[in-house]
Amino acid sequence: MLPTLTPSARHALPRCSTLAATSFLSAFSSTSSFSSLATNAAPHASHGRAIHTSKQRPSPPMPATFDAVTTAAQASTHSVDESVTAPSQPKPSALSVLPLSSVIRSLMTTTVSSSPILLGPSMAIMTALAHSTNPLLNPDRNFLLRFFLKKTFYAQFCAGENEREVRQTVDGLKAIGFRGVILGYAKEVVLKDEEKKNLASFDAESRKETTAEEIRAWTDGTLETVRLTAAGDFVALKFSGAGLQALADLAKQSPPAPAMADAIDRICQLAVSRGVRLLFDAEQQAVQAGIDDWTMAYMRKYNTPEQAVVFGTYQGYLKACGAILSDHLRQAREGGFALGVKLVRGAYLGSDPRQLIHDTQEDTNAAYDGMTEALLRRQWMAPLTPDSGAFPAVSLVVASHNAASVERAQAILASGSAATTDVAFGQLQGMADEISCKLVLDAKIAQASTQQADAGVQAYKYLVWGSTGECMKYLLRRAHENRDAVQRTRSSRDAMVGEVLRRFKSVFGMA
Ligand SMILES: Cc1cc2nc3c(=O)[nH]c(=O)nc-3n(C[C@H](O)[C@H](O)[C@H](O)COP(=O)(O)OP(=O)(O)OC[C@H]3O[C@@H](n4cnc5c(N)ncnc54)[C@H](O)[C@@H]3O)c2cc1C
Repeated sequence: MLPTLTPSARHALPRCSTLAATSFLSAFSSTSSFSSLATNAAPHASHGRAIHTSKQRPSPPMPATFDAVTTAAQASTHSVDESVTAPSQPKPSALSVLPLSSVIRSLMTTTVSSSPILLGPSMAIMTALAHSTNPLLNPDRNFLLRFFLKKTFYAQFCAGENEREVRQTVDGLKAIGFRGVILGYAKEVVLKDEEKKNLASFDAESRKETTAEEIRAWTDGTLETVRLTAAGDFVALKFSGAGLQALADLAKQSPPAPAMADAIDRICQLAVSRGVRLLFDAEQQAVQAGIDDWTMAYMRKYNTPEQAVVFGTYQGYLKACGAILSDHLRQAREGGFALGVKLVRGAYLGSDPRQLIHDTQEDTNAAYDGMTEALLRRQWMAPLTPDSGAFPAVSLVVASHNAASVERAQAILASGSAATTDVAFGQLQGMADEISCKLVLDAKIAQASTQQADAGVQAYKYLVWGSTGECMKYLLRRAHENRDAVQRTRSSRDAMVGEVLRRFKSVFGMA
């Protein structure tokens, strides 16, 4: 039987000229009821204005019928407890929720990123495209280049170039079962190296008009991003994108200049009015203390005692991260507001002073998992610094592609021992899909077994939007990250190969 695809899911599937080819591809692309998943996915993002915690969130009604995936899943319980999975009901493949085009694209990018032969030339080309001023190498001006990139790397990692494309991508993810998205605006203010070096001697007066224009462009792009999201989604923003004045103020740990402060307030107010939450990104160490100061000021202003609208980002690879997080938790307790925490390992390993970063990957892993556990249990345990006072309310985003870290956090939540319930999990679009899709599938299983449409963890995908040219620097960073985390990239590639084989076998009745 041919599956019925939702429009948003259908657009991702390849077109075929003959009915036979269409039938074959449809079956191949959806051998485990991707269609039903998409059709039955509960519309989690409400159009109301309030922000709900996972406990408070009103349960949408359960769909009358459940798809094959969920029905099979009903026989099993949560994946962390494999011992009670019914042996006669094999657990469905988590990647079955993805359309075929996504599986093929992921297979292609992870194959390139994990191949020493293909990676070198690809990185050289990406670097040239991201930094060139030659119009022929600008995807926004070169139609053929744009067409190729748009169908491949851009489609893998980005949301879209305009409102229509972004909404289609976001709707497709929600139809698959993601609770929502973390949306960012790709356009970056590009500073000359000379300007970056001379931040301390930055002359505000001589650059007045450029500064005003940089802040205006950043504000407009961020406000537009908030408008593109729905209640329950997140918007990610980078202060450094607002230009040189913002960077200079952050480096000096000065408060934002009046125009910047006004812009951040407008963004926060729009987010509150739309039920959207804001994730302030962590950046290089040269500006991070300033970012922390600004973030805490806006948390104090916009977070309620129970829940965060504004989140700071905590980089677990920093030796000082536990102490910084503990200090912010104390400030939240004393200020009477919930601390918004997006916990990451950190993306500036190549550029930040090495001595500030844990000596080994294992130390980073232990710190990351320790902080996740402390925040989930609301206990002052290591690597937090000891404190005998109360632990404030926390809203948490576990932002990681590390399967072990994600499973640990999931297991604490599933065990019922977590005191923090406002928890989301986030992975970048186009990366670690096997982990993201497993979170979606586990949530489906939990929903089926409890008959609660809001059961299970909340899985989010992080994507940026903007023209293909504007997204080139973001794409280059993803290429670097895939290269650096080669073991994880290989695991993703192997998972995609397994999924293609699984679909192939099931088309021929061999599965
Ligand atoms: C939704 C989301 C938002 C993010 N936002 C930010 C942000 O605002 N700011 C930011 O800085 N990062 C951010 N990141 C993190 C970053 O982009 C990488 O994804 C992250 O650093 C990779 O870690 P991981 O948890 O995915 O785990 P893994 O895949 O296990 O990470 C492995 C990588 O960690 C690195 N590493 C960490 N510590 C060490 C060490 N001591 N020695 C050697 N290598 C080490 C290595 O490069 C290694 O390849 C975000 C990630 C996500 C998913």
